[in-house]
Amino acid sequence: MQSAVRKREFSKLDELADQWALTVGEYIEEYALDDVVPGICMNPGCLYTAEVEPDQRQGWCEVCGTTTVRSGVVLAGLI
Ligand SMILES: [Zn+2]
Repeated sequence: MQSAVRKREFSKLDELADQWALTVGEYIEEYALDDVVPGICMNPGCLYTAEVEPDQRQGWCEVCGTTTVRSGVVLAGLI
C-alpha cells in the first residue's frame, strides 16, 4: 500500500512532467542522468517549476517564498 506521502510525490511528478509537456516515463528517460533537471514546488496547488540539481529537496519556490522545490528525479524515487 502506498503511503500518503508517496502518493503526493507521484502526483507532483505527474504535474511536473505535464508542465514540461512530457509523460512521467519521458521525463525519467530524458533527465535521469542529467546534471540539471526540472523540479516542482511541493506545496498543494502550487505548480511552480524550476531547474534544480538532481538531488535537490529544498529548492526555493519564488511563488510561495519557501524552500519547497523538489527535483523530479527525487520524486521518481531514482535517488
Ligand atoms: Zn510554491
